Order: sequence, then C-alpha cells, then structure tokens
Amino acid sequence: MNPTRVLVLNSGSSSVKYQLLDMPHGERLASGVVERIGEDGGPADHDAAFKLVAGELTDDGVGIDSPELAAVGHRVVHGGTRFTEPTVIDDGVLAAIQELVPLAPLHNPANITGIKVARELRPDLPQVAVFDTAFHTTMPEYAARYAIDRQTADTYHVRRYGFHGTSHAYVSRAVAGLLAKDPSEVNVIVLHLGNGASASAVRGGVCVDTSMGLTPLEGLVMGTRSGDLDPAVVFHLARVGGMSVDDIDTLLNKKSGLLGLCGDNDMRNIGHRMAEGDEAARLAFDVYVHRVRKYIGAYTAVLGRVDAIVFTAGVGENSAAVREASLRDLGSLGIEVDTVRNALRAKTARLISAAGSRVAVAVVPTDEELEIAQQTYSLVEQ
Ligand code: ADP
Repeated sequence: MNPTRVLVLNSGSSSVKYQLLDMPHGERLASGVVERIGEDGGPADHDAAFKLVAGELTDDGVGIDSPELAAVGHRVVHGGTRFTEPTVIDDGVLAAIQELVPLAPLHNPANITGIKVARELRPDLPQVAVFDTAFHTTMPEYAARYAIDRQTADTYHVRRYGFHGTSHAYVSRAVAGLLAKDPSEVNVIVLHLGNGASASAVRGGVCVDTSMGLTPLEGLVMGTRSGDLDPAVVFHLARVGGMSVDDIDTLLNKKSGLLGLCGDNDMRNIGHRMAEGDEAARLAFDVYVHRVRKYIGAYTAVLGRVDAIVFTAGVGENSAAVREASLRDLGSLGIEVDTVRNALRAKTARLISAAGSRVAVAVVPTDEELEIAQQTYSLVEQ
C-alpha cells in the first residue's frame, strides 16, 4: 500500500505547530505544539523543538520514521510572485524562499529552519511548501500595484501580496460546497477575522483582491495591528513625535488595532466590557466593524455579483455580535442575516442568512492544516 499520511508543520519564530493527517479523508491522527523556543523553559532552538515534535509523534505511536508517512507539508509565509502553487522543495526552492526573507523577516527564516530540520530527519520524503501568498497571486495587476513610482516599486519588490491565502482558499471552496455549487460558479467575499484579519474577493474560485498588502499590516483592524492608515501618519510620528522606524513598526504592528484602541485585543473581553458600558471597548468594536463594512462594500463593487459572504477564524467563527454589526442594514445589497441562526453556536460550517437573502451568509471554520495536507498530498500521491 502507498503511504497516505501527511505531516503538516507550521514553524513560527517561537513555536512549532504540527498535525499528522491521513489522506485523502483528512483524518487527524496527532497534533500538538511546541512553544517558547529559545525562551526560558522551552527548547533552545528549532532543532531541539523538532526533536520534541518527533518524540511526541513517537509517543503517539505514529513516529516520524513511519513508512506510512507520504510527505511533509510546510506552511511558508512568503512566496513572493514566484510561488503560485504548492511546490516540492529542492535546494533551488529553498534558496528562493531564503531570497524572500527581506519581505518576511520574522516568518520565512523560521519556516526555512523547519524545512531544513525535517529534511534531515526524513531525507527520503518529499517536503512540500504551501505558501500563504499563493492564493492571491491571481490578483490582477491593477489590484496588486500600489500607485507609486513603478521603478522604485519594482526595485524593492513593493506590491500587494496578501496573506492567509490557505485559509481564503479553503473557506471559499467550502462555502461553494455549502451552497451545493462548484467553486467556479460562485463569487465570494471571505472575512478571515482572527488575531490577524483579512478580507478577500474571490470570483469563481480565483482571488481578485485581498486586504493585506506588502505585509500583513494593511487592511482590516486586527488584534494589535492598525490595518489601513494614511502613510503620512508614519512621517508625522517620525518628524513630530521623534519616533524611530522601529518604534513606529512596533506601534502599528503590536500596539495598535483593538489593543491600541481599548487595551484589549480579545474580542471576548471587549464584548464583556461593552456589556458593562465601557466606552473605549465600544469604540474599538465600532472602529473594527466599520472597517469590515467598508471592505464588504468595496468587494461587492469589485465582484459586481456576490453570491456569498463567509466569516471564519476566531472572531468570525465565534462572534455573533461582530457578524451582526458588520452586515446590519445591508438589505439594499441583498444581504440579510437571520438573527436566530446567527446567534446559534456551532463548530460546523453553516448558513446564517435569512431565507429570502439574495446573498448567502455563512460561517465556515477554517482548517489551514487540512488545506496544507490536501495540497501536499495532491502533489505526491501516486
Ligand atoms: P490567530 O490569528 O492567532 O490564528 P484565531 O483565528 O485563533 O487567531 O483568533 C483568535 C481571536 O479570536 C482571539 O483573539 C479572540 O479575539 C477571538 N475569539 C475567540 N473566541 C471567541 C469568542 N467566543 N467570541 C469572540 N471572539 C473570540
């Protein structure tokens, strides 16, 4: 029998998450996370972290040396314009991922380390890179370009890449399934609202626009990131506020968004605080939802015809209040939410639109690991 298991590795700067799935059905055989890499109480480095992962898999009776393992699928954050598809990793691919480090200085190095260690542990296995940016490489040039001097942009690879692509791909396809349609038949707005948040416009299964840009800072209001702002804010803070580039980077990426507005980046706490009449929490919620509504309007215009709006990730899957407020009074766009369905808590993909709503509204739990496993397996199955 041919091997059917895929190990999915998501190595971040301080953690390694893993899942072992049996394909093609995606049955989860093991999963876990090794955290605090390089910190007190955690493994010293990624090498040590991967040895822990290998040990945990062996403890689960599904060792990394198992002959049933077909491939390792790696989440890689930045694939630039080069990687439009999942790709079997060889030395050339690894070098190309390395060349993209300036575009993702925190993420790609951790991904590279993960790939190297996994290759050492199982040199016989295909290692596949699945890129966060790949799904968005279909954006038309006019959506991917910033309106700045072309030569400068090209020299420094400044363009809109988009992220969370694995989630947008999975969820846009899943919502087509929920509507009993082929993905090629439906136009979808995906709202991935987690700690990081992004929206995408997907026409017939193909991404035509997304809210994140050169980096994951652009677009929606996030847990700790500002999302869209006038770029002159940066000059102003430097000139008038005397802040350094690094200070401003930290401010916009780590101290802004919901956290910056109200001191809390967890939508659950914001909900509790709002219920107690907390005005800062209310303002943070309103700013967040206002931005989501603007993107829904924009992507409705981009797509022309919208068949479905789908919410996913931590906030999107769990916050009925955010979904309700994001779509309130949009009947003129054909969007009507069923308040009872919206309020129901469930872990499964479901419709929450009212019976007569022209646009279907759905909640679909994202599953990036399953998507990575599927893309990996489709490349290596014999
Ligand atoms: P990440 O981007 O880190 O993968 P998730 O998609 O897991 O994040 O989303 C995490 C966020 O989801 C939390 O910060 C929290 O704001 C939100 N969240 C989780 N559960 C709930 C809930 N029941 N109600 C509202 N928000 C929630």
